[in-house]
Amino acid sequence: MNARRMTAVAAAALFTVGLAACGSDDSGSGSGSGGGDPIKIGIKFDQPGLGLQDGGNYTGFDVDVANYVAKELGRTPEFIQAPSPQRETLIETGQVDLIFATYSITDERKQKVSFAGPYFIAGQDLLVREDSDITGVDGLDGKRLCSVSGSTSAANVQKEVPGVQLREFDTYSECLDGLVNGQLDALTTDNTILAGYAAQEQYKGKLKVVGNTFSEERYGVGLKKGDTALCESVNKALEKMVSDGAWQKAVDDNFGPAGFKVDTETNPPKLDACS
Ligand code: GLU
Repeated sequence: MNARRMTAVAAAALFTVGLAACGSDDSGSGSGSGGGDPIKIGIKFDQPGLGLQDGGNYTGFDVDVANYVAKELGRTPEFIQAPSPQRETLIETGQVDLIFATYSITDERKQKVSFAGPYFIAGQDLLVREDSDITGVDGLDGKRLCSVSGSTSAANVQKEVPGVQLREFDTYSECLDGLVNGQLDALTTDNTILAGYAAQEQYKGKLKVVGNTFSEERYGVGLKKGDTALCESVNKALEKMVSDGAWQKAVDDNFGPAGFKVDTETNPPKLDACS
């Protein structure tokens, strides 16, 4: 172990011990229940099963992981909306400390932010109308597709199908009306997100997930570039979440109701080293 790494590990250990002394023992669900100093956490507000805001209530897999990690850090989560195009900026400007928002780890993003994790692996897929004959990315040439700017979903699909007519919004939920009423042919993003929309009462029998993924999306916890001590602390919490069964419970609670089948060959994923 080199000196720099030893310092980071020592700092992380001190940090954890110091915070444990003033930590809390409640459930940490929702916001403001973790005890300790507030920590600003960016999540999605419009992705059922992942990050959903309903009044002062926050639910979803990302929210459960965020609450667990915040509690391990001895901090009280304060949830802030982190739409895809704004995530790097929110971290760089210090408006959020951590992001748990279906945020894929990529080399391009690593130029601006650092990532703990990954804590989940998803794949890019398509959401179409129930009667659609689109069966995969190959059938998208010339079709009207919807996605979100600043996402890997929009970038991947443009690379795969240069002839697609891509419409980009700030959030995925803005694509849904156009898809249902026929102005759009498909919505593309991670299968996790699409399953959450398809399972909503108002879309039952109207929309379906194609089920033919064409990318690997490794969800990381975004944080300030180079904050290795924080990254190590988050990774330690993620490791504990898997080993004590809380990660599996969060998967079952949040993906179960949508009937989303988690790929157990890739999940739970092995953590990357913090750098
Ligand atoms: N996981 C992909 C990304 O980070 C798509 C989902 C999203 O935009 O949050 O870009």
